[in-house]
Amino acid sequence: MLGIILLGPPGAGKGTQAKKIAAQFSIPQISTGDMLREAVKQGTEMGRQAKSFMDQGGLVPDEVVIGIVKDRLQAPDCAKGFILDGFPRTIPQAEALDRVTKELNKEIRVVLSLEVDEKELMERLCGRRTCTGCGAMYHVKFNPPKAAGKCDKCGTALIQRDDDKEETIRTRLVNYKKMTEPLLRYYQGSGKIRSVRATGDIDAIYAGIAKILQ
Ligand code: ADP
Ligand code: ADP
Ligand code: ZN
Repeated sequence: MLGIILLGPPGAGKGTQAKKIAAQFSIPQISTGDMLREAVKQGTEMGRQAKSFMDQGGLVPDEVVIGIVKDRLQAPDCAKGFILDGFPRTIPQAEALDRVTKELNKEIRVVLSLEVDEKELMERLCGRRTCTGCGAMYHVKFNPPKAAGKCDKCGTALIQRDDDKEETIRTRLVNYKKMTEPLLRYYQGSGKIRSVRATGDIDAIYAGIAKILQ
C-alpha cells in the first residue's frame, strides 16, 4: 500500500509532482482542491458552501473535506495506494485521516514535505495556468505551453484560477502558516516525513521524489 501525503504551501508544486507520481506508480491523485472546484462547477449544495471560503482564500470546514476524502479513499482505484494532494491541511484533518486510514485498513507510507522559499511562491501562483480539459498545469514563465494559452496535451484553453490573485494568495499563504505548517511537527514524530527541496527543474525534483518512493 503506497499511501502518500504531499505537504507544502500553495504553489510548492504538489499538483505538478502528484501527476508525475500518479503516472509512474499507477495510483490516483486525490486533490481536495480539484474536487472542491468540481463541486463548485457542478453547483452542488456542498460546492455552494465551499465557494465562499475558497474565493476568500480561507479553508473549507474540516467536516466537509474529511467527508470527501473518506468517500474517495473507498473507491476501488485506491486499493494499491493514493496520493493526497492538499489534504490534510489542519491538525483535526490529520487526526481524522489517522482514524479513517485505520478504519479502512489503509496506510500512509510517506509524507513528502515540498519546500520552496516564500518569495518564489507568489511568483509561481500569479503565473499559474491550468487546463480545464485535462488538468495539466503550466506557468507563463517557468513552464510555458508551446502555444500561448493552449494546453500541449489536449489543446484546450488554459485558465487562471479565480483565487490566484495577489490579494487572495497572500491570505492563503497566511492561512498555510497558521493552519497547515503545524502539520510538519505533527508528522515529525511518525518518522514518515521526508523533506524535498522543491525549487529548480521540475523533472529533477521528481527524480528525487521517485528515489524516495522506490
Ligand atoms: P493550492 O494548489 O494553491 O495549494 P488547492 O487547489 O489545494 O490550492 O486548494 C484551493 C482551495 O480549496 C483552498 O484555498 C481551500 O479554500 C480549499 N481547500 C483545498 N483543500 C482543502 C483542505 N484540505 N481543507 C480545507 N480547504 C481546502
Ligand atoms: P501546488 O499544487 O502546490 O499549489 P502547482 O503544482 O500548481 O502547486 O504549481 C504552482 C505553479 O508553479 C504552477 O504554475 C507550476 O507550473 C509552477 N511550478 C511547479 N513546479 C515548479 C518548479 N520546480 N519551478 C518553477 N515553477 C514550478
Ligand atoms: Zn489539457
